[in-house]
Amino acid sequence: MTKSDWPDWHCPNHTKRLKKEGKVLTCPGGDQFPIRNGVPRFVTTSYADAFGPEAKKYRTTQFDSYSGTTITRDRARQCVGEDLGRGACVTSIDITEAVDSN
Ligand SMILES: [Zn+2]
Repeated sequence: MTKSDWPDWHCPNHTKRLKKEGKVLTCPGGDQFPIRNGVPRFVTTSYADAFGPEAKKYRTTQFDSYSGTTITRDRARQCVGEDLGRGACVTSIDITEAVDSN
């Protein structure tokens, strides 16, 4: 990921712009958020933890190639527009460990 591809992340506690320093996003207010597998981690534990293993186990469920539908493609086009598949830059957020599966 190049610098221009990296979104301007802001601290959830101070709303200050975060600076990438190696594998950590650092807040001027003192917070630090690790980056693992190229994904910033803003949450350490949450009520959604139980969903992570489920999403990993059924990771193909939302693939149109698996379901034989166009539901995921249609949903993505609703969010991104017709640029989907033509170089659109998409940033997604997932509160669970399923982010490592996507
Ligand atoms: Zn902060």
